[in-house]
Amino acid sequence: MLKLLHTVVRFMFPVPCVSCGYLGEALCSRCRDRLGFYPHVRSLEGLKVGSALYFEEGDLLERLIYPLKYSHQADVVRFLLPPLREALKLLLEPSQVILVPVPLHKKRELERGYNQSELLAEGVGRAIGAPVLSLLRRVRETESQVKVGGRVERLGNLAGAFEVLGRIPAGGQIVLVDDIVTTGSTLLACAEALRAAGAENIVALTLADRNEAPPTPWQRLPQTAAPA
Ligand SMILES: [Zn+2]
Repeated sequence: MLKLLHTVVRFMFPVPCVSCGYLGEALCSRCRDRLGFYPHVRSLEGLKVGSALYFEEGDLLERLIYPLKYSHQADVVRFLLPPLREALKLLLEPSQVILVPVPLHKKRELERGYNQSELLAEGVGRAIGAPVLSLLRRVRETESQVKVGGRVERLGNLAGAFEVLGRIPAGGQIVLVDDIVTTGSTLLACAEALRAAGAENIVALTLADRNEAPPTPWQRLPQTAAPA
């Protein structure tokens, strides 16, 4: 019934697609196909990282995540959350989950006006009823990970870039949340900081995986059904 009502409302008041501008739905079916929602898990040096989709264009991701800032713009969110939940389920049994967003440097966050990882974490937290704890702080600005050459340099670039605020809650499963994973060095640096502060169970969840080639071992799932 709700779905029918939604269809009728969208027919009478079409919205532009955030990606291509085509009038109809907030994320049109062509762009949904192009994004290729594809919940999967890969392992990065022992850290399990679950992602909802493979994608490369950063600015489209921003346009997808930005509506999470406004709960009334739920149209895009309803396409993002089901595959994110699916990826989370592949990572762990979602109980006693604590969502920890990857922080931006304060300066970057002020420029941007929000932290996209925090918006994602809050969206997922609302959907599964899990708390979001900002346990990490980025203590120094780092070079863009894309600009920094090899793996060793990238890890060196991030060593000590994060510090843990407060105490790690006992018994919780920590899920680091970020918008995108490329080399994984940011997530690994965050996990290292949390481990040093006593955290034991840490996995990571990202909206997009920008890995160039499909990783092995990896897990492929059938396309998630369109959300109701
Ligand atoms: Zn579109």
